Amino acid sequence: MTTIIENSKPSLYERQPEISTRFPVHQVREDFPILSSEVRGRKLVYLDNAATTQKPQSVIQAVTRYYKGENANIHRGVHYLSEQATQKYENARRKVGAFIGATVNCEVIFTRGTTESINLVAQSYGRAFVREGDEIIISALEHHSNIVPWQMLCQEKGAILRIIPLLENGELDLGVFDKLLSSKTKVVAVTQLSNVLGTLVPVRQICKKARDAGAVSLVDGAQSTPHLSVDMQQIGADFFAFSGHKLYGPTGIGVLYGRAELLERMPPYQGGGDMIRSVSFEHTEYADLPGKFEAGTPNIAGAIGLGAAIDYLQSLGMERIAAYEAELDGYTRSRLQEVEGLQIQGNPEEHRGAVSFTLDGVHPHDIGQLLDQEGIAIRAGHHCAQPLMKCLGVPATARLSAGLYNTREEIDMLASSLQGLRTLFHP
Ligand code: PMP
Repeated sequence: MTTIIENSKPSLYERQPEISTRFPVHQVREDFPILSSEVRGRKLVYLDNAATTQKPQSVIQAVTRYYKGENANIHRGVHYLSEQATQKYENARRKVGAFIGATVNCEVIFTRGTTESINLVAQSYGRAFVREGDEIIISALEHHSNIVPWQMLCQEKGAILRIIPLLENGELDLGVFDKLLSSKTKVVAVTQLSNVLGTLVPVRQICKKARDAGAVSLVDGAQSTPHLSVDMQQIGADFFAFSGHKLYGPTGIGVLYGRAELLERMPPYQGGGDMIRSVSFEHTEYADLPGKFEAGTPNIAGAIGLGAAIDYLQSLGMERIAAYEAELDGYTRSRLQEVEGLQIQGNPEEHRGAVSFTLDGVHPHDIGQLLDQEGIAIRAGHHCAQPLMKCLGVPATARLSAGLYNTREEIDMLASSLQGLRTLFHP
């Protein structure tokens, strides 16, 4: 799969210079302490944001402030610090709810991240409502975390996993999806944005079709939430999963959004403290939402840090971030296209974030290691999407993924380093 962009056309940036000037990217960079560091004697160029994003000072401060002066366990305490910590944790939930357009805050469940959120749905909803012979539809674009939990469920229940295939350009073949959907379909679980090809998936349309067929839908928002403004009412998903660390927040915290009516009907995922109303040796009454799904002491600092990350993003404006990144994405693709022997994997019409590529005669791991010598951080490998690699017919790709603080100058550096690599291997 290759993209063809005519070199004679002006780049997207040249056509829309005003967007860049409106987004204060150089000022934004100053908010991220790590970006001014050096790696191997070179200025860091961080282009591995699909793996994890760097953290702004305000997030670092929120976490530090919590541990320095506010640390206590939540919900059960009667003392001042516990009340403060509880308030901050629940305030973070409110921020998340408003950020994603949840109807009520109890639809926001804190988890460890996207992986745990999807496992929660597979283990709780899936074990309760999926039966032998039922079908679960996922897509060829999925990350392992939206494949393996469903495979495990299918194995346990004797259910069948169906896959929406890819079109040549890296988009999903929705014609096949229509044919796969039937009264046997119980769950449709798809990513909103591919972590490998950058394909934007029309999840609203997919969720509607799933609902019309009587199935529940889950959207993996791990990659979309940092790049787009997401709205649960607009997407119409029953479940939506994302990770704090990809959203400029801390690691070890993530979110499962679920429609309250469904969460109410689901059994708990884990048992323990905080998820109960009363316990006796004979019988346990579970807590109301969201407590029912948050057994044990949660990642309090992580939730507070995620709340601070959301405040930060909202201070910049998700629409502005999206506009800036769309332009940078177009610029990146056109610059890479100029590198001799470079093939971009996939050419989806709607794309954002990750760009995967191969370079003739150079192994992706060598690309990653040689760029690292120049202080440029990208990723090489299967990106936790081995079935997708198989569809693409490659064992691995090199992948760059820009975030809100990356600049055209950094993309230029990457492109000229790649051109240098190509010359090194093909003198
Ligand atoms: N889904 C997608 C599309 C991802 O890119 C990732 C992370 N690479 C995940 C799920 C898993 O996220 P986490 O490791 O934060 O649980």
